[in-house]
Amino acid sequence: MATIFSRIVAGEIPSYKVAENEEFYAFLDINPLAKGHTLVIPKREVDYFFDLEDSEIAAMQVFAKKVATAIKKAFPCVKVGQAVLGLEVPHAHIHLVPMQSEKDMLFTNPKLQLTPEDFKEIAAKISAQLA
Ligand code: AMP
Repeated sequence: MATIFSRIVAGEIPSYKVAENEEFYAFLDINPLAKGHTLVIPKREVDYFFDLEDSEIAAMQVFAKKVATAIKKAFPCVKVGQAVLGLEVPHAHIHLVPMQSEKDMLFTNPKLQLTPEDFKEIAAKISAQLA
């Protein structure tokens, strides 16, 4: 059965898309640690990030770099932090989180409660920086 993230890529489940190319898809995390918290995934369904091919990891990181650069412009922060967890969704993904301080990367922090309008606005702000 397809993962929830594959179903997002297929358009079967809605997402707040930030960017896409042939191989990768970036969209807002629905339980964000900060405004701009984005997930980058390969369209190819692989559970464990470190099971991806070397070439895929390299290309995914370059894609994530572009997205992170756009996030930083859209949501000024000290740095965009990157994390790979994958304990919840069995489809490899990179978290990109705008950080004001180290504690913004604590996944045990309470998540932001945002409206659909907030999410749309955030995704549009980041996408605009990629255009
Ligand atoms: P983890 O697998 O531990 O890296 O966590 C999975 C992340 O995916 C969590 O931060 C969730 O909030 C996020 N997530 C799960 N389902 C969705 C969804 N349908 N749209 C956006 N983000 C999601």
